[in-house]
Amino acid sequence: KDQNSNEFFTKPKVTFQDVAGLEEVKEELIEVIDFINQSEKYKKMGAKIPKGILFHGPPGTGKTLLASAVAGETKSAFFSASGSEFVEKYVGVGAKRIRTLFEKARKEAPSVIFIDEIDAIGAKRHLDSNNEKDQTLNQLLVELDGFNTDQTVVVIAATNRIDLLDEALLRPGRFDRHMYISNPNVKAREEILKVHTRNKPLDPSISISDLARKTHGMSGAHLSNVANEAAIIAVRENKHIITIAHFEQAIERVIAGLQVKNPTIL
Ligand code: ATP
Repeated sequence: KDQNSNEFFTKPKVTFQDVAGLEEVKEELIEVIDFINQSEKYKKMGAKIPKGILFHGPPGTGKTLLASAVAGETKSAFFSASGSEFVEKYVGVGAKRIRTLFEKARKEAPSVIFIDEIDAIGAKRHLDSNNEKDQTLNQLLVELDGFNTDQTVVVIAATNRIDLLDEALLRPGRFDRHMYISNPNVKAREEILKVHTRNKPLDPSISISDLARKTHGMSGAHLSNVANEAAIIAVRENKHIITIAHFEQAIERVIAGLQVKNPTIL
């Protein structure tokens, strides 16, 4: 049996409240959410619902989180896949997976399909490129062009490398809405830290804005790690609340982890 995760979907409970910062992107997405929630209104007016959205920007900045929040805000079925899951040795297998994924999403509509690392299948085609990859990309284009307006299926793709993508993917009617998801600035880091400490017992003397200043260069994913590490350290010390000392150790740990991977990042 073809075991692949594409056939499974969830109904995320995540909402925009769980996504900190990224105010402009959220504003743009509210429009998309309205398309999904009130699709009849748009159809009656003869308007086409946008199908493809491309999130691009550095890793760990909340692209997956935002996509699941779009599903959560619209009570849509959420299909999450990674481009690399479609990369196969045998010709036609990747294309078939794409077909199955879209079939299922149409059946469960309204749906949000999220394809992370779209560059794994959507990189520019070359004359000498491998046939399997081309077939997979072609199938994705067929699906994007093909679905009619009766089913509300929105496809969100994400990449760290928009420059690698085949232009065919970016044409009108395909992934034609591009949203840049940036690394958080100090204000956004503060918001993200607030979200990730929301359910944690903090020493009231902790200043989240100070922590935001001390975490320059970190992504949302790093900040979520910092909050979690601080909680773990507090537990190990048998404390009932998380103190600034725990956060300082946690920040050091996360920075140490970053420096192993990329010595120039901080
Ligand atoms: P990648 O490009 O590596 O796939 P991504 O951009 O999809 O990364 P996510 O997987 O959405 O990043 O983020 C990882 C985790 O980091 C999230 O589950 C969340 O806990 C935290 N996070 C990232 N950005 C934010 C944000 N803006 N607000 C709140 N939490 C965030």
